[in-house]
Amino acid sequence: MQVKAPRGTYDVLPPDSQKWQYIEQVIQETARLFGYSEIRTPIFEHTELFERGVGETTDIVTKEMYTFQDKSNRSLTLRPEGTASCVRALIEHSVYGGLMPVKWYYSGPMFRYDRPQTGRFRQFHQSGAEVFGSNSPYLDAEVIMFLVQILSNLGLRDYELHLNSVGCPLCRESYRQKLIDHISPVKEKLCIDCQSRYEKNPLRVLDCKVESCHQAIAGFPYIYDSLCDDCQEHYILVKATLEDSGINYLHDNNLVRGLDYYTNTAFEIHIPSIGAQSAVGGGGRYNGLVKACGGPDIPGIGFALGMERLLLALDSLPDREEPNSKLDVFLAVLDEKYDNQAMQVLDRLRKAKIMVDRDYTGRSMKAQMKYADKLGARIVILMGEDEVNRGCFTVRNMSSREQLEVQTEQLIPAIIDILT
Ligand code: AMP
Repeated sequence: MQVKAPRGTYDVLPPDSQKWQYIEQVIQETARLFGYSEIRTPIFEHTELFERGVGETTDIVTKEMYTFQDKSNRSLTLRPEGTASCVRALIEHSVYGGLMPVKWYYSGPMFRYDRPQTGRFRQFHQSGAEVFGSNSPYLDAEVIMFLVQILSNLGLRDYELHLNSVGCPLCRESYRQKLIDHISPVKEKLCIDCQSRYEKNPLRVLDCKVESCHQAIAGFPYIYDSLCDDCQEHYILVKATLEDSGINYLHDNNLVRGLDYYTNTAFEIHIPSIGAQSAVGGGGRYNGLVKACGGPDIPGIGFALGMERLLLALDSLPDREEPNSKLDVFLAVLDEKYDNQAMQVLDRLRKAKIMVDRDYTGRSMKAQMKYADKLGARIVILMGEDEVNRGCFTVRNMSSREQLEVQTEQLIPAIIDILT
């Protein structure tokens, strides 16, 4: 029986892997410019971390986690997102005792058991950022600017930034009752999940993905109208800073993060051209999360970008250049008795940072030239009896078709000369 990759997972083969490297490189460079350092956390954690850190009533925790018992009967879970692990690491290593704010970014695989479709996988990849230790609205703006800068450095300009404020526990207290009063009379029209969660967590109804729930609660009161003075001022400053930086946004009353530890700014980035799953990333402030996970009362804010959806968006750009996978040099070995010597030549060139390859399948001279062409080699070096006897190489420039004879010690400068 042929074993295939599990449903909802996939392999990244060359040349597609170059696109991944490209995105990761852009994120790394942008992170450096914004002063964010990389954190790497384990791919599995104690299940309890996500129950507390993501929220016991969320879809992720109730339906989508890859949870298993290890051989010591511990309950472990493949991480469904990155924030909880960052919060755990912050607390575990008392990083908050050092320089604040702590500015981290991460990239890696995440796991959610959901129905696979375009842009939705069971193993997918996120790059994200988390900042701890400041409640400044300018930091909210910076985090959003970081996200937007990644998109723009990737050449993605047709995005929509949705923005809202979910206030603080104080303003949510009064809002919660208003929302429950609005929802109660129509509760029979809600989906099963919303019916059971609306009293405990009415904000979750607002971000329910089921269309009939949206219709049922039409005309719901906006949290924006219940913000306390501090939260209103915070939101105004975030918006003004984005406006002054030329970043367009849409105020979105439906955008909420329904859990208690989310506070103030919430945002989502959509790229409509990639289809139904158009959200490429989202994030927000979570001033209550570190405390909820057993740490001190430290504010935090972060975002996560979905790499697969970024790739979809990149692929949909009309004038996108394919990554350059061309080979610099192909070494054609014309007689197997020079195989060993050829390895020394490859070694010399590679140590001089020249990208070079050769044939290992016993191709004829003609087949090697065809192979070099397929690899896109810019230069072919011929190494045959004649050359070896005379201590030289024949160097062919594949674009001009010019051929020259180069003494062994002149090989590297001659190649660099053609390549540059
Ligand atoms: P979330 O943590 O749910 O806010 O997700 C942040 C981003 O990760 C989303 O905007 C998507 O781009 C991406 N994402 C979330 N779930 C998946 C999935 N199952 N497959 C692919 N990408 C995903």
